[in-house]
Amino acid sequence: MKLICIGRNYTDHIKELANEKPTDPVIFIKPDTSILLKKQPFFIPDFSTDIHHEVEILVKINRVGKYIDKKFAHKYYNEIGLGIDFTARDLQTKLKEKGLPWEKAKAFDGSAVIGKWVSKDNYSDIDNLDFCLEKNNSIVQQGNTSFMLWKINEIIEYVSKYFTLKIGDVIFTGTPAGVGVVKSDDILTGYIDDQQFFSIKVK
Ligand code: ZN
Repeated sequence: MKLICIGRNYTDHIKELANEKPTDPVIFIKPDTSILLKKQPFFIPDFSTDIHHEVEILVKINRVGKYIDKKFAHKYYNEIGLGIDFTARDLQTKLKEKGLPWEKAKAFDGSAVIGKWVSKDNYSDIDNLDFCLEKNNSIVQQGNTSFMLWKINEIIEYVSKYFTLKIGDVIFTGTPAGVGVVKSDDILTGYIDDQQFFSIKVK
């Protein structure tokens, strides 16, 4: 399986990194080895001193599909989740400056936190979900899916032009503002509405 990630999908986050607003979604892929194993802490890798948290709504694909029209995209996922796209911001900045791919900064081991999954039927409107990330019990990131530049069904349409979606693939839908550095002993806890989806320790 693969993790397909959307970059620059919330205007407030584009502003905080002084990025240009894209005309098409920014896409990158993480391999399955990037998934942080259940109940394991996140270990800060030795190649970065500026690992940032990015909390993101996740979608789990449950049907094989290619060239999926956004009208039918809702048939390709049943479950919604929440996760973190850990990013070595120092490394990513260097790679971006040189126009190089981001994988070393984005796709390293442990860089993808995937919390629990819940049925999308639990929510009356997928495009109006409140979510947040707490660091050591204070809210650091807050978002609502209504502020996505590309909504979930549009993301599925767009990415499936390039990549066949397979059962079990996960889409990371982009992060709102408030990304920031993590330190040893931080506890990161993610919520959709009031429901906790993950809690992880940084080491
Ligand atoms: Zn991200």
